Amino acid sequence: MRKPIIAGNWKMNKTVAEAKEFALAVKDNVPSKDVVDSVIGAPALDLAPLNCKLKDSDVQLAAQNCYWENAGAFTGETSPAALAALGVPYVIIGHSERREYFHETDEEINKKAKAIFANGMTPILCCGESLETYEAGKTAEWIEGQITADLADLSAEQVSSMVIAYEPIWAIGTGKSADANIADEICGVVRQTVAKLYGSEVADKVRIQYGGSVKPENIAEYMAKENVDGALVGGASLQADSFLALLDAVK
Ligand code: PGA
Repeated sequence: MRKPIIAGNWKMNKTVAEAKEFALAVKDNVPSKDVVDSVIGAPALDLAPLNCKLKDSDVQLAAQNCYWENAGAFTGETSPAALAALGVPYVIIGHSERREYFHETDEEINKKAKAIFANGMTPILCCGESLETYEAGKTAEWIEGQITADLADLSAEQVSSMVIAYEPIWAIGTGKSADANIADEICGVVRQTVAKLYGSEVADKVRIQYGGSVKPENIAEYMAKENVDGALVGGASLQADSFLALLDAVK
């Protein structure tokens, strides 16, 4: 009932020329949008040229971040209104790298979520615990706290349309992916938290991704789980053949 969503997160990789080359290689080879949402989270500079190359294809774009104001004296920031005007449907927010290296708070992430919705786009909200929290057995309460703070004051309709990515920090870029049963359990915690805040109808609709060392060889294990509706993929989304192999394993 929930459409799978596979999103690549390129992070700070690829020049415009490299992004265009990737677009050409994938644009006619992804599954239909009716079956799977195939998304590329590209650096801001690559979004406009990618948008030109991917028009009329089933590949959709995501920004990796944006600000909460639409315009003004905010040197260096990316406007959500400008992303929306370009036709970008998704924005990734709250990635652990942004939380850790750029000190983003739950309050700021919540403001970004509201701005993204106000501009007619969909947030892909990331949450996840550190190795220390995981080893202390405190993952569930940590995730519940993050989700509750990040979703503050959003409407039920908004939350039911959004995407939440569970990404344990210890599994990101480490090759040490979470066991599929653990991914399912914690994606279940995300869903239960949404149910607690918004009711079971909204919780049944919200799409939840697992992220952290997902690759073509293991994606099917995650996708087979009840609470996992997709994946947010870093390293394995950078090569066109690998990105297509991830999608192939899902459709
Ligand atoms: P990874 O990154 O797939 O390289 O572990 C995932 C992410 O950071 O979204």
